[in-house]
Amino acid sequence: MKEIYQQTVEEVLKQVGSKELGLTSEQARKSREKCGWNELAEGKKKNIVQIFFEQYKDFLVLILIASAVISGILGDVESAAVIVTVITINAILGTIQTVKAEQSLQSLKKLSGPEAKVLRDGTAIQLPARELVVGDVILLEAGDMVPADGRLIENASLKVDESALTGESLAVEKNMDTLLKEAPLGDRTNMLFSGSFITYGRGKAVVTEIGMQTEVGKIAGLLKSTSEKQTPLQMSLEKFGKKLSILILIFCGILFAVSVFRGEEISSAFMFAVALAVAAIPEALSSIVTIVLSFGTQKMAKEHAIIRKLQAVEGLGSVSIICSDKTGTLTQNKMTVEDYYIDGKRISASKIDITDLAQRRLLDDSILCNDSTNENEVEIGDPTETALINLGSRYGVEAASVRTLYPRKGELPFDSERKMMSTLHQIDGENRMIVKGAVDRLLERTERIWTKAGVRELTEEEKEKIRQQNQEFSMEGLRVLAFTYREIPDQHKLTIEDENHLVFLGLIAMMDPPREESKAAVEECIKAGIRPVMITGDHKITAAAIAKRIGILHDLSEACEGAEIENMSDEQLREFVPNISVYARVSPEHKIRIVRAWQEKGMIVAMTGDGVNDAPALKQANIGVAMGVTGTEVAKDAAAMVLTDDNFATIVKAVENGRNLYRNIKSAIQFLLSGNFGAILTVLCASLAGLPVPFAPVHLLFINLLTDSLPAIALGMEPHNREVMNEKPRSADESILTKDFLGKVGLEGLVIGAMTMIGFLTGYHQNGALLGSTYAFGTLCLARLFHGFNCKSDHPVLFTKRCFNNKWLQGAFLLGAALITAVLMIPELHIIFKVETLNWIQLGLVYLYAFVSLPIIQFLKWVRIKLRKNGE
Ligand code: ATP
Repeated sequence: MKEIYQQTVEEVLKQVGSKELGLTSEQARKSREKCGWNELAEGKKKNIVQIFFEQYKDFLVLILIASAVISGILGDVESAAVIVTVITINAILGTIQTVKAEQSLQSLKKLSGPEAKVLRDGTAIQLPARELVVGDVILLEAGDMVPADGRLIENASLKVDESALTGESLAVEKNMDTLLKEAPLGDRTNMLFSGSFITYGRGKAVVTEIGMQTEVGKIAGLLKSTSEKQTPLQMSLEKFGKKLSILILIFCGILFAVSVFRGEEISSAFMFAVALAVAAIPEALSSIVTIVLSFGTQKMAKEHAIIRKLQAVEGLGSVSIICSDKTGTLTQNKMTVEDYYIDGKRISASKIDITDLAQRRLLDDSILCNDSTNENEVEIGDPTETALINLGSRYGVEAASVRTLYPRKGELPFDSERKMMSTLHQIDGENRMIVKGAVDRLLERTERIWTKAGVRELTEEEKEKIRQQNQEFSMEGLRVLAFTYREIPDQHKLTIEDENHLVFLGLIAMMDPPREESKAAVEECIKAGIRPVMITGDHKITAAAIAKRIGILHDLSEACEGAEIENMSDEQLREFVPNISVYARVSPEHKIRIVRAWQEKGMIVAMTGDGVNDAPALKQANIGVAMGVTGTEVAKDAAAMVLTDDNFATIVKAVENGRNLYRNIKSAIQFLLSGNFGAILTVLCASLAGLPVPFAPVHLLFINLLTDSLPAIALGMEPHNREVMNEKPRSADESILTKDFLGKVGLEGLVIGAMTMIGFLTGYHQNGALLGSTYAFGTLCLARLFHGFNCKSDHPVLFTKRCFNNKWLQGAFLLGAALITAVLMIPELHIIFKVETLNWIQLGLVYLYAFVSLPIIQFLKWVRIKLRKNGE
């Protein structure tokens, strides 16, 4: 049996049961029922039981289990039971968090899955690539990812990057020839393979294999379930956590030795040392980051920013430069033709006369040299081009009929480097190549002009007049395309050399109004210390006019053209970039250089991109941002964030989210560290004063494993605050654990420790050690719960609405308080939890001591802010 690449197009179509016009929806549905989805099977995912048992892998939990076993053997069955219960509940909580976080990341992946253009029921539609079936006819153009394996049935200069499959980094040119012999993958030039990228040209292919049957499916076997890399914050926290753990273990070791030396039983001294280690070591630091970030990405997805790499959320908080495209990001990308310029006259689009030879010719050419379609109200293609065919429809000239009359015989696709495209047609007996593109680029190549009276030389004055007209359009913020043409000998294969010696026909100017929200978003950016920079392929004057309208540029001297930076050295460019807010006529290489120049100045750069050639710049930027609607799959693949509405304002919103999430993570960490520190201080203080140990091991385990993690997570969910946008961007290498931060942790820990100690002493003097430790346990537990409200903000929030705006925190507080009150008041629990029965007054006192830490810390915050203000 012949391989697909050895068969003719007809044979392949027959084999897969399809036609040039593709499948019907019904055929596709049936095929999918039989063959399943077009996706690579994921590696075995961990199931919930595995995740549950993973919670026990932690070194400290293992020590705890060991101590439970020891306690059990030594006859202390209650302690053993409590430890087992507490770590089981803790493992359940951990499992729920992990599963939820994973689910949210998984649903994000689905959202950013690739799309494919396919013919169904004879019309081109766009759908998620996983819905493709064998026999589907897919349409591909530069920037697309090949969504399945297929045989080419139409080819217009296709070049494909198959490096993911073959390792060959040069793009492969494709053709339609049937191969006679067997050929290795890289030489099957009439085939397209799933996972490769179209870098140039356009084509059509019939799908021959999907999912795991594709070449990439066979090679890759199972997709490894991609585990997220750690974010910089997680790495730094992990390092800090390790160092801190060693210190704490040494401290607990000393405490153990001292207790044994004092004559305490080895088993209980050991148990206490272990419990203190568990209570003091902040083992949850890095997992808090994952949980908060992954929940944060859900909110961001709802607000149209899909995060592809978790690190990006963190990076967003320190973005200081946003380099943005113009078309579609700052503008609406809803182009409408405003004016024609032909025969030396400017004609409004509403006054076009299609019986006029010149105007009709410009209209026809704009439909022919054009890849967009608008069938049954479904627009597919570049809005610049859709605007051209929509103008035709307005005058009853349908694209399909013009295109059937003058079919395309050849083409040179558009690329943002040349800024032009050409198509070849047989028109009125002549072989005509129509070239459309940027006015400046085309005028350089134009020698003659078409007039109703015939073609003649184009004089310098006439060229100047066209340039002036272009300038006039541009100053009005219009985007201008020039239309030219030339005759081409028959049977000639087009090359870009042919885009010379052109005949000028006319100009078409179109309007792409700024998005309504752009101006406010730019303002907000500037207020937040972020510099917005426009980088566009469009004309300098057009770009400057739009930039001025939305507040990015104030004077034309802040705009430059890509060509101006071409000859600059990297050093010169570094000095140059701060003066420029608009870069026009840039090529993708310029983008990379601009990003790099800013980065060398210590800036964190977010950069938008949509085209095939934007991928390197997106990777170079700290946060590569791809356009979800108009962007190519290549750009999306390279980006860290995808905008589902292509909107600049969404980037600014994402920065706000990034800053808020960072702040929330910081609050959660502050909460955990200061509370742990309070516990250690109490133990240290009591042992220095020669008093009995203020806690039983079970107390520390109860607090650490049950009533601590919920408020920490709740703080991570703190409602977002717009105030973060009044601050300057955080420096990227700033660590969370600054001296200032640790100072706060220390001070707040001190207050909590002091109140706990007061509690302990009260009980101790009332009725000895057991009552003392009951007081200490209750006070520490409740003080930490109250402390959650302290960690909401650096400012005092008590008595403000803000104090009560986080229902998660309130819930965590109520649950924690209910649990501890139950433990203190229900006599049946007392043996297990090693507490003494409190009367109502004593309970009130415990609540009071714990509560007092709240106003004290709030007052300290107030003093701190006053001191800082005075310092300034
Ligand atoms: P941005 O970079 O902000 O998205 P842009 O869309 O203008 O701006 P490109 O798509 O690179 O950037 O276009 C650059 C220039 O190429 C345009 O100013 C226009 O003159 C020309 N051009 C754009 N689209 C086409 C097209 N489909 N056919 C021919 N020329 C085009």
